[in-house]
Amino acid sequence: MRDFSQDHRWLSINTATVRKQQGAEVPLARIIDQCAERGIRAISPWRDQVAAAGLDATARQLRAHGMELSGYCRGGFFPAADAAGLRAALDDNRRAIDEAKTLNAACLVLVVGALPGALDGAPHYTDLARARSEVVDGIAASLEYARQVGMPLAIEPLHPMQAADRACINTLEHALDICDALDPQRTGALGVALDVYHVWWDPKLQQQIARAGQERLLAYHVCDWRLPTRDLLSDRGMMGDGVIELKRIRQWVEAAGFAGYAEVEIFSALDWWQRSGDETLDTCIARHRSVV
Ligand code: ZN
Repeated sequence: MRDFSQDHRWLSINTATVRKQQGAEVPLARIIDQCAERGIRAISPWRDQVAAAGLDATARQLRAHGMELSGYCRGGFFPAADAAGLRAALDDNRRAIDEAKTLNAACLVLVVGALPGALDGAPHYTDLARARSEVVDGIAASLEYARQVGMPLAIEPLHPMQAADRACINTLEHALDICDALDPQRTGALGVALDVYHVWWDPKLQQQIARAGQERLLAYHVCDWRLPTRDLLSDRGMMGDGVIELKRIRQWVEAAGFAGYAEVEIFSALDWWQRSGDETLDTCIARHRSVV
């Protein structure tokens, strides 16, 4: 396993970690500068942040800093109430793939979606099997275009607590079954984003990471599971402040061949978003070295 204790060359920052500091939205350009000042070599930004900052301006700034994207957040949300909605989702994913390409991202992360409308509290239907089949169709259609332009798609299985509103693919095994169905040759065009917050509890985790192998492991996201977890979406812990055995999971991931960034992704309305971005980033670096 790689030694992270001496430097943080394999640290990436998901920009959601430091975007809402102390009640104010931090512009993406500022976050990139804060990361560059600390020798952080990679980030994973969100589409709305890039849209606000400008796609080309962001690409230029990243190039100027020699900074990479460990992933781009995010595509997905394929299920819809009707045919027009399904088409609109495919169009939107195509745009996301183009943006990811312009930014030279390692992959486009897919939060695949679930019951359409559920995020707003009013699902158009409650047939989870239908949502799952629309997800498979959506990934298959997007994959065709993603292959043409050379942008890998990374399915992120989400914790089952988010099966209704954000993602109806909830285990690594389920995500890999879809990868095997749509990309049986294991070309690297389709894989998974493995986020410890979503999968740490899974009794099949080690086995499925080994099954995934290097071709399917496209991104690795770290944070921690706090006790108690006060909010299911936005109370993620800083690495080392919870119960996830991060080094054990990284050992499995690296044994399977993953050699990319450990991307810190912490949604923390109750703690880290209340501190300065500088303090949060400095803590990410220290914890990356000591516990990731
Ligand atoms: Zn994630």
